[in-house]
Amino acid sequence: MSPAATLLRWFDRHGRDLPWRNTRSAYRILVSEIMLQQTQVTRVLIFYARWLRLFPDWKKLARATNADVIAAWSGLGYNRRALMLRDIARAVVEQGEPTDEGGWRAFKGIGPYTAAALAAFSLHKRVLPIDTNIRRVGARLWLGIPFPSFTNDDRIRRAAEKFLPKRGRFYDVPQALFDLASLVCTKTPNCTACPMRADCLAAPKFIAERVRIPKQSIKKSLETKHRNKPHPDRIYRGRILKVVQEKTSVSVNTLGRLVDPCFDVTHDQAWLLRMLDRMHKDQMISVRAQTVRIFTMPS
Ligand code: SF4
Repeated sequence: MSPAATLLRWFDRHGRDLPWRNTRSAYRILVSEIMLQQTQVTRVLIFYARWLRLFPDWKKLARATNADVIAAWSGLGYNRRALMLRDIARAVVEQGEPTDEGGWRAFKGIGPYTAAALAAFSLHKRVLPIDTNIRRVGARLWLGIPFPSFTNDDRIRRAAEKFLPKRGRFYDVPQALFDLASLVCTKTPNCTACPMRADCLAAPKFIAERVRIPKQSIKKSLETKHRNKPHPDRIYRGRILKVVQEKTSVSVNTLGRLVDPCFDVTHDQAWLLRMLDRMHKDQMISVRAQTVRIFTMPS
């Protein structure tokens, strides 16, 4: 049995049954991909179903206002993702759905990973979308690198070219790798229970405990934090949006205290204004005459 067949057999028995895996709709796949950026699968499951009830297709989403999409996204965080998704829907309604990976890449907000995911899962093209999880498993399996970086992506892609079956279910291989990354080949991998152990170049190193597991996740340390605030800025931006949605309009002078009980005008006012400015540029809110409101397109 080929290594890919071994992986797919394991996937059939142990893979997760996720709703976006039972469709080839580019719209539904893109919604899931954007939601899964920085949000856990279990949380996405709830929001995904709700979103599709409100916006079942490109056309319905394309017609939505900023306030509509931000309200529907509320609770997922990183609200810019919702506006970006709506803007992509508008572009698709105007130009039609692309028929290849390069076509998806041309849309603002769709990067190499998402374009490859759409090509693999919606168009059933023989490509490997490389995100952090697939990078980790692919590099371990095919290159013997325990903790890879994006500089290994070209080599991973070349190795995948040999690994992916030439026909049949090659489009299920990335999904199987996602699940292997999430259930077995985690940061501290469980090689002894792994179905790929016999074919994996990194397994002997992990089993012999010749690998040092890095302590800190780089992603966390990259989040912007102000002074001694306990949370990253994105949490406060989420609070600002919630307050503005609930109150319809709020003055800049009262907003600070509403989003942070320890708000101190001397040290925090400039920080608050910077966040408002960024949210204004991202078309989430508008600030006029010291009053903050949800952004609406000028008619
Ligand atoms: Fe990951 Fe270990 Fe499986 Fe290799 S054998 S894919 S390192 S869990």
